[in-house]
Amino acid sequence: MENVVIIGSGCAGWTSALYTARANLEPLVLTGAQPGGLLTTTSIVENYPGFPEGIDGTELMVNMQKQAERFGARTEYGARVTAVDFSSRPFKLFQDDEVVEAKTVIIAAGASHRHLGLESESQLETKGVTYCATCDGALPMFRNQPLVVVGGGDSACEEASYLTRFGSKVYLVHRRDELRASKIMAERALANEKIEPVWDSVVEEITDVSKDMVTGVRLKNVKTGATSQLDCAGVFIAIGHVPNTQIFDGQIDLAEDGYINCRQGTYTSVDGVFAAGDCVDRVYRQAITAAGSGCAAAIDAERFLAAES
Ligand code: NAP
Repeated sequence: MENVVIIGSGCAGWTSALYTARANLEPLVLTGAQPGGLLTTTSIVENYPGFPEGIDGTELMVNMQKQAERFGARTEYGARVTAVDFSSRPFKLFQDDEVVEAKTVIIAAGASHRHLGLESESQLETKGVTYCATCDGALPMFRNQPLVVVGGGDSACEEASYLTRFGSKVYLVHRRDELRASKIMAERALANEKIEPVWDSVVEEITDVSKDMVTGVRLKNVKTGATSQLDCAGVFIAIGHVPNTQIFDGQIDLAEDGYINCRQGTYTSVDGVFAAGDCVDRVYRQAITAAGSGCAAAIDAERFLAAES
């Protein structure tokens, strides 16, 4: 029987592990399929306080893990929870053949990349369609080729800027005529002469499924209705995220868009189940806010257990 099981190993997960470990609760961290979470797919994190020169995303996550483990957190790598039973205590977490029982659970399952939802997108995934410039941008297929980034947020701007190292040109395709990104990221992207914004446009189709590779995108201008073809070797989709909460549906209160509804601090609708990070937060979604909410969840779980004993 575990005191605290933490589902997820991003900033929220490791910070809650650090705090619950320091409270002698010997937390168990189930990392999920992507240890370290989404930050491991980014390059330099420039806005995490304490690192004036910035820090590599993976390095930051590895440091957080080491810090938590130093105080007694235990890690189960790749452990993926496929179902939960929060109907009675101890809570049950199912992973393939194994069942973990826990007095409290901290959900820090994060979020995944949102997809455009096009058939051609799924057919050409890994054949030129990708959701991570840092992971895939340096592949030979993208070198000195025109590339497309879809989206208008910080991620799209960051990916576009990064991809200018490899591509001959980067088109930033956005559905409006104004970026959503923070001023500094937007200005940096638009000032880059290798980046050309394509405003008011959505991707209707990624070509060419018949060739089993990306050759371009068919765009539609949402203001004029005109369609056009843009040749490119890669399509990098950066249109936001969806919370990883499917397995909690029916077990705790979720909003219509899948984010976890907390009733007070990090308390979910089930006593003893807490939630933190990107699976709760549709507003701030920063590494530092995720870490902060992971800390809050740990303190809530610790006090919850203390009140029971
Ligand atoms: P985001 O801020 O939600 O932006 C998503 C973008 O994709 C928006 O421009 C949106 O258009 C567009 N979009 C959404 N659905 C679309 C669809 N179906 N088709 C076409 N376009 C679509 O997401 P994000 O850029 O991933 O950023 C998420 C959070 O992480 C933000 O809080 C951001 O500040 C943070 N972040 C920070 C950094 C950094 O500071 N280094 C880097 C990356 C991310 P609209 O604008 O029209 O809604």
